[in-house]
Amino acid sequence: MTAGCIQQSSGEEGSKGTIGIAMPTQSSERWIADGNQMVAYFEELGYDTDLQYAEDIVENQFSQIENMITRGVDALVIASIDGETLTSVLESANAENIPVISYDRLIMNSEYVDYYATFDNYKVGVLQGEYIVEALDLEEEEGPFNIELFAGSPDDNNATFFFKGAMSVLQPYIDQGKLVVPSGQTDFNQIAILGWDGAKAQSRMDNLLSSNYGGGEELHAVLAPADLLSIGIIASLKNSGYTVDTMPIITGQDADLPAVNAVIKGEQAMTVFKDTRLLAKKAVEMTEAVLQGEEPEVNDTNTYDNNAKVVPAFLEEPVVVDQDNYEEVLVDSGYYEASQLDQ
Ligand code: BGC
Repeated sequence: MTAGCIQQSSGEEGSKGTIGIAMPTQSSERWIADGNQMVAYFEELGYDTDLQYAEDIVENQFSQIENMITRGVDALVIASIDGETLTSVLESANAENIPVISYDRLIMNSEYVDYYATFDNYKVGVLQGEYIVEALDLEEEEGPFNIELFAGSPDDNNATFFFKGAMSVLQPYIDQGKLVVPSGQTDFNQIAILGWDGAKAQSRMDNLLSSNYGGGEELHAVLAPADLLSIGIIASLKNSGYTVDTMPIITGQDADLPAVNAVIKGEQAMTVFKDTRLLAKKAVEMTEAVLQGEEPEVNDTNTYDNNAKVVPAFLEEPVVVDQDNYEEVLVDSGYYEASQLDQ
């Protein structure tokens, strides 16, 4: 598919209505899986769908949603690019009585977000932090170990949740001096990578290495919030001579194929798998419930304040994947075919 391409399921007879699905980008496989799975589940329930990707261009997403409203969709499911830019288009949705489900990322600054389907985003960060602590055996070892920190896109509400979750685990070890950040860059704004852009992560890693590790200092761990970034970070490290045997402990998220293959190879230590099948199903069930005039099931009613309201949410559970369990979690569950992996 090309940028902005529309994938519309044909209007079957007896359709219960059309659902507009606005996804951010196809640059990470997870979003492709999310979109396809939602289309499949909605169709099973008798809905037509209008699935669109905006290739990380905020204005495109805005006009895609605007067009969906003009075409008269019955509900919207949106994974925003910049969570703060959809306020006025959600006003238009509300004027047409179109319910809105926020998907994976919270849409900010709008009271017209009805429900939120996501993963436990804070826990994603906790799992990444805990993995680093265990891999370096920080309970027993004194270190000090060198670590560098990366965070996701500042326009994505999830990015601060991931970072805060990870730092809730790592900060005590930094305070004890067991973990050291040689660059001194520990502030969210210093380490955030706009647009979840792997190339930007790669060049930040290049700079970190040349400015702080030029004298042969070893890097022991990198907190990378997502696979889109870890892949760029690994490329940078390889370019400056790191090998599978000397690679730091690098975290990730999404179980994107290149990252899973990096885990299998031993270049990336772990990824946090968020089963998009579960999230897609949940969002579809929420949408169906709202359209039927019922209350969707939620399990969190106090975490996700979008500055206009606390959005009732359902949080799915993220799962750590590493060399020990990738086959069981990703292959045996049917998420990937064994033939897709470099084993
Ligand atoms: C999602 C992550 C993803 C990141 C980059 C976040 O909002 O929750 O799963 O890695 O965006 O696409």
